[in-house]
Amino acid sequence: MSKKIIIVGAGPGGLASGMLLAHKGFDVEIFEKNPVVGGRNGSIQLGEYKFDIGPTFFMMDYVLREIFKTTGRDLEDYVKLTRLDPMYNLHFGSLNQAITIFSDRAKMKAELARVFPGAEKGLDKFYRKEKTRFDRLIPVLSHHNNNILDVFNFRTILALPSFSFGKKLYDVMGNYFKPEYARLSFTFQSKYLGMSPWDCPGAFALVPYTEHQDGVYHLEGGLSQSTVAMAKAIKEDGGKIHCSTPVASLLIKNKKIYGVKLADGREVLADKVIVNADFGYTMNNLVPAGAARKWTPKKLAKTKLSCSIFMMYLGLKRTTTLPHHSILFAKNYRQNVADIFSGKLTDKDFSVYVRDASKTDKTLAPKGKTALYVLVPVANNRSGIDWDKVKGKVRKQALNILATDFGLKDIEKDIEVEKIITPADWEKDYNVYEGAVFNLAHNLNQMIWFRPHNRFEDFKNLYLTGGGTHPGSGLPTIYESGRIAARLICKEFGVKY
Ligand SMILES: Cc1cc2nc3c(=O)[nH]c(=O)nc-3n(C[C@H](O)[C@H](O)[C@H](O)COP(=O)(O)OP(=O)(O)OC[C@H]3O[C@@H](n4cnc5c(N)ncnc54)[C@H](O)[C@@H]3O)c2cc1C
Repeated sequence: MSKKIIIVGAGPGGLASGMLLAHKGFDVEIFEKNPVVGGRNGSIQLGEYKFDIGPTFFMMDYVLREIFKTTGRDLEDYVKLTRLDPMYNLHFGSLNQAITIFSDRAKMKAELARVFPGAEKGLDKFYRKEKTRFDRLIPVLSHHNNNILDVFNFRTILALPSFSFGKKLYDVMGNYFKPEYARLSFTFQSKYLGMSPWDCPGAFALVPYTEHQDGVYHLEGGLSQSTVAMAKAIKEDGGKIHCSTPVASLLIKNKKIYGVKLADGREVLADKVIVNADFGYTMNNLVPAGAARKWTPKKLAKTKLSCSIFMMYLGLKRTTTLPHHSILFAKNYRQNVADIFSGKLTDKDFSVYVRDASKTDKTLAPKGKTALYVLVPVANNRSGIDWDKVKGKVRKQALNILATDFGLKDIEKDIEVEKIITPADWEKDYNVYEGAVFNLAHNLNQMIWFRPHNRFEDFKNLYLTGGGTHPGSGLPTIYESGRIAARLICKEFGVKY
């Protein structure tokens, strides 16, 4: 009889594990609290408009391609990918200046020369040096972190210089690009990890590198289509996915997990349980009080967390001339970043990311209309900000910025439908600990050996996937967490991976 695997949560992490294990012949059953799969990587339909809830930058496409390949599939048979080049536009509030970012190296060089004369000289060095870092660090990040001897081995020793200990992303990029805004163009990617460029470890220079090297993709129908495709593959291989079925707690006896208790009271037994629900939420809510040894609520409260996001999804009865992705840096960017990470709400001058995918993808809004995705990085819920109180003010200011800096004059009268998600909503509706949507911060003392392990050490038979676990947040690393958990389970049961 095949071994039973329960997965809590159908986000990208849980779906990646589910796909691989269902293909390997395990009896996979996924319980998802929401009516649809995808989690933060799911979609929202507002009337005729469709929005991605979270991810809009699809990077390191080969990781998901490999997962599909392992299960005998071709990702392209399930989703239509379009590589975006130019990748995005950056607008610098204080310079009243903009730069277009290309993954085509020659075009990027010409654009750097045009906007920041002289800065183009650093591009080749950036590619050369950062390739070495990427080649050294990726094997460490994609390997499991369960065994200390396995973590601190030759692979890691070889990678040690690539960690750039003591250096921040902002310092590392200063080696290549001198003008301040050229440097920021290669460091703002720390926000993909929910961190400040002045605090994000230099090791994460691999993020801007892989973005420029491997490019950024759009998926037709939105990035949520990746999760729809993964769910389809799981079902094709005999796995079951139960939506609108929240898990209330993990069943534990003698430090061994033996199944889950559903919110409707049913108990479902399993040989192994993989939890994809947010790590901090899981430890505080699904693990019975007092059962955890290492990751106690007290320890969690002391962790460093990522920032949060104030989201606006706007269905507009008009088109825009905006590119697919545009990012506006606050006029005083440093102050805005300092506010976010010290728990303050920037009053007016905040950074905004806007995505209008309608030129690339006609499926998201009717002809002549726009599904506009507006993202404002803000503090997580440790800030104590009362979002019910300030939500209207932040919305108004974001609309002002859209009107003045993104050319969307009188935008309010064009809004047909709208939804806002605040940090408080991430915590309440999406079960995200402290609304820190990029999970535990990626400081080196919360990475690799120090990040929650994919085979959880506090209890037997429990595995973890998702952005709060090793190797970290962001879709490629989340898929990797799912792949590591699947590999560990296969190994334990002697199934060839
Ligand atoms: C606004 C935003 C923008 C982002 N942009 C990008 C981007 O451009 N590129 C990128 O790579 N990454 C991006 N990310 C980061 C990250 O890739 C996503 O957040 C990703 O969806 C996280 O995946 P996950 O598997 O860790 O968790 P989730 O997607 O949250 O999945 C966890 C699942 O568990 C379910 N669950 C929770 N509790 C229970 C329970 N008790 N019972 C059953 N099910 C439960 C949830 O409903 C959810 O479906 C973004 C995140 C956000 C929020």
